[in-house]
Amino acid sequence: MCHWFAVAAFALGCEGAPSAGENVASDAASGVLPPASIAPTVAEPSAAPVSADGAGGASAEVAEAAPPKVQSPPCEAEPPLPKQPLELPSDADILAGLRGEGGPLSAASIGSPSRGSLLFGVELSASETIERAGKYPYGTVSVVAAIERAVREVNRCFPGAHKLAVGDLSRRRGGWLLPHRSHQSGLDADLGFYYRSGPAWYVRPTAETLDARRTWRLLRALRAGGNVEVVFLDLRIQRLLHSYATSLNEPDLDTIFDLNSKKNRWLRHEYGHHTHMHVRFHDQRAVALGTRIARLDANGLLRVAYWAKASR
Ligand SMILES: [Zn+2]
Repeated sequence: MCHWFAVAAFALGCEGAPSAGENVASDAASGVLPPASIAPTVAEPSAAPVSADGAGGASAEVAEAAPPKVQSPPCEAEPPLPKQPLELPSDADILAGLRGEGGPLSAASIGSPSRGSLLFGVELSASETIERAGKYPYGTVSVVAAIERAVREVNRCFPGAHKLAVGDLSRRRGGWLLPHRSHQSGLDADLGFYYRSGPAWYVRPTAETLDARRTWRLLRALRAGGNVEVVFLDLRIQRLLHSYATSLNEPDLDTIFDLNSKKNRWLRHEYGHHTHMHVRFHDQRAVALGTRIARLDANGLLRVAYWAKASR
């Protein structure tokens, strides 16, 4: 299928992309479509205080008579992600599930994002709001749910958004996924941006083309989801978003942005992440189940350690 989202989807050296990835990515400019019908239908929130400027020496009476500024009601966040039970099945039930003889097991994240595998991952589906720009859409349950939740919030709060391009998550069974260095255990996802210039994938946004309002809401919703460990995002894009977020007078920006490259913020500068953001999730249940499964398969007979085979 020839589709704009396929452009340069393979070119991604996601974590600190090497120069080769950069070269291929330069083709991505052709991924920009003509402006789509994405004109905002919700007024841009203004951080500017109500003007108290009585131009021409207006009297206090005139100022008082001025209609009060009507503030848009804040858009409510999506409901929280469903709680996942931390209690794991018994070893016998897990082994039966692995052999396909018992009930289904939930997603299991084995090993680490940079050397791991995934069992029973779920697929992020394309939808009216999500365009799959990657070939590998599998993640743990809460990873997929968190992405869908955040996109849902953006589209509810700011209708008229174009589809969000989502690149690779993991393979169905996880394991090596070149050119990424991680994306192996169902806990990583590459997300695109919202653009005022129309949908695109793997295109560096500018102050003119970035839809900061929707992209910032996307990040806010991901953060509120509670299962994002860190987001790798180039400093230049962070600055664009910080400028917008500052205009909203949001109080906790210092704990979010990595503008001084301190490497200890929720948003973290990483070279090569100016065309997309790399979101690293945590999933306590999936990791606990993966750890248990790896222990049960210490002899390797169940071949759950997929990466070990793939790396040989
Ligand atoms: Zn990535």
